[in-house]
Amino acid sequence: MAITTLVSAVSRRLEGKVALITGGASGIGQKTAQVFAHHGAKLVIADIQDELGHSVCQSIASGAAGNDATYVHCDVTDESHVKAAVEKAIKSYGKLDIMFNNAGIGDPKKSRIIDNEKGDFERVLRVNVTGVFLGIKHASQAMISAKGGSGGSIISTASVASCMGGLVSHAYTCSKHAVLGLTRNAAVELGQFGIRVNCVSPYGLATPISQIFHGLSVEELEGLYGSMANLKNVTFKEDDIANAALFLASEEGRYVSGHNLVVDGGFTIANSSFPMFQYPEIN
Ligand code: NAD
Repeated sequence: MAITTLVSAVSRRLEGKVALITGGASGIGQKTAQVFAHHGAKLVIADIQDELGHSVCQSIASGAAGNDATYVHCDVTDESHVKAAVEKAIKSYGKLDIMFNNAGIGDPKKSRIIDNEKGDFERVLRVNVTGVFLGIKHASQAMISAKGGSGGSIISTASVASCMGGLVSHAYTCSKHAVLGLTRNAAVELGQFGIRVNCVSPYGLATPISQIFHGLSVEELEGLYGSMANLKNVTFKEDDIANAALFLASEEGRYVSGHNLVVDGGFTIANSSFPMFQYPEIN
């Protein structure tokens, strides 16, 4: 093998793979689509923001890697849409290797449970939990019935709210705990088919979902999250999650399943109210 081919095989970690990304038109999903394409994957971007989704595909197709990318309108709460998105991947590229269940929403900022509306609560669960359930269901069906049954990687976006309380709304916390539960249960069932199921749990990022929740600009949000972060001097970015998803999707993660990859700079394991860890600043 020529050195350039070898280098390209090592650096393009998803060469020949087909990935479907829900919520791929914006934020984490959009960045992950770009990173997956850079590593050689063919992509189906599924979202409800059609104009944005098409422009993500166009920018991937016209980028340096010139990868194939197809957009499909898909509301993840609608089973026929999710099924059709999986079928689109198979029709366009012949198979589905990687499913990234990333679409998600927040809900109105009402901290007291007595102020929460049942409709708002259920809306969050429909997108964040039922959407992930449908994604796992239809992706695993396609992976199991693929010729040769070569397995696959299913990744879902949870949150630091999958393992902590009191950070965000009741519905959102509940939904992300459920994503972790689904991940673990599906990993147990699907291991027999060589299918790995994991989730990735980001700390706060200044994407539209959190801008809407907090009513702040990108700069204000990065400042807020930075001030509360455990890891200082690093601005947490969408690339950090895209790279975590890349690890779980690629050969490097081939024995990782049922895992919650928390990408939070140590936020969830720090107890900032415990005085022992409040070191004086060094100038
Ligand atoms: P974002 O708002 O930029 O992206 C969310 C995407 O999901 C959008 O493109 C939106 O159109 C799509 N979407 C919403 N409802 C949908 C539906 N019914 N069907 C299909 N697509 C739908 O925000 P983001 O931060 O990139 O969010 C991606 C994921 O990351 C979400 O699951 C979110 O809960 C999770 N997350 C975000 C943060 C953060 O601070 N931004 C932290 C932890 C976890």
